[in-house]
Amino acid sequence: MPASVYLDSCLAYKAETIAESLRRGLSALNLEDSVRSGDRVLLKPNLIMAKAPELATTTHPEVVRAVAMVLKDCGARLFLGDSPGFGSLDRCLEKSGLQSVMKKMDIAKVYFTEETTVMDNNNLIAKKLTLATAAFAYDKIINLPKLKTHSMMGSTLAVKNLFGFIPGLMKIKWHLRAGHNRQLFARIMLDIYRQVTPVWNFIDGIVAMEGEGPTGGQPRHCGLLALAAEAPLLDCLVEKWSGLSAMTPISQEAQKLGWLPAERLVAAGPAAASPLSPALKPAQGATRATFPGQRLWRRLLVLKPQITRSRCQLCRVCVQHCPAQAMQLLNNKIVIDYKRCIRCYCCQELCPYGAVRVGYGLVFW
Ligand code: SF4
Ligand code: SF4
Repeated sequence: MPASVYLDSCLAYKAETIAESLRRGLSALNLEDSVRSGDRVLLKPNLIMAKAPELATTTHPEVVRAVAMVLKDCGARLFLGDSPGFGSLDRCLEKSGLQSVMKKMDIAKVYFTEETTVMDNNNLIAKKLTLATAAFAYDKIINLPKLKTHSMMGSTLAVKNLFGFIPGLMKIKWHLRAGHNRQLFARIMLDIYRQVTPVWNFIDGIVAMEGEGPTGGQPRHCGLLALAAEAPLLDCLVEKWSGLSAMTPISQEAQKLGWLPAERLVAAGPAAASPLSPALKPAQGATRATFPGQRLWRRLLVLKPQITRSRCQLCRVCVQHCPAQAMQLLNNKIVIDYKRCIRCYCCQELCPYGAVRVGYGLVFW
């Protein structure tokens, strides 16, 4: 069975060595022609916040330099962008060491400020999804995540790295909507992946973060570089390689969708047969709220759907499409169970009579 993931050993951050590893991986996975001369290619590193490279919070500048070297050889024109979780893009680029690499390698900076909204009824949760326009404005996207544990989602790898395409503070809104529901948040991540679909994903795991990731953990030398065209397959095999004891919510949901068929979960490369030992130390807070007071903020800030009875025609479109089965027709009116409601607002988007409005309201759930 041909491999879909390439796992390589790489001991140090030296761009020339990393570039060689990347070339081997592209060849092993038949991805050499995935970028062509003249392609406008957007690089999406992990730039969650302004931290120095040795803290293992962001994608290392030597990895970005190596990728740029390989892509320049292909004749690609390079761009790099992100919407950091904390702080400005300029500050993150400067502190992470990426700014000087971009200058040396002639990589243009892209701010994820312009927004594009897509409607997709095939999405699991986010039928209406607003992303940075950059997600659609380039010929190819190359995803450059960092191997890290994550206090809410178990790990943050290729699929999770695409959350950076959600512009600015809108990220908080999605966190609030999902609350403690890791499965729901995983589905939202997979919805984003369906829209963005990088041409390939290259994980920087030379020095990973373990413990209280994605920003408060400890650097751990793992010596891994991992490549694949399909992010869910890559994430699943890197989680296994890292020794995480259970499948993370993103991989669980990807498996439910049939995106992880056993015959495609095949890794090649020198590191494939030598998983990390001891395993990456997981975050202790995987089931805790993602920030203090989240429950209260969620109650106060998240808009809740409400039915305008004078407009409602009792057509039951909302009931049939509510992904949380939180709506029912009861005593000749539509009733919403706010304990079940996941604030996806599908009901508002799909109601043919404009009978669902969303508004603020203190709701206990
Ligand atoms: S879709 Fe709109 S009109 Fe139809 S039942 Fe739901 S709220 Fe009422
Ligand atoms: S009631 Fe509306 S907002 Fe709540 S889960 Fe159902 S469709 Fe989504």
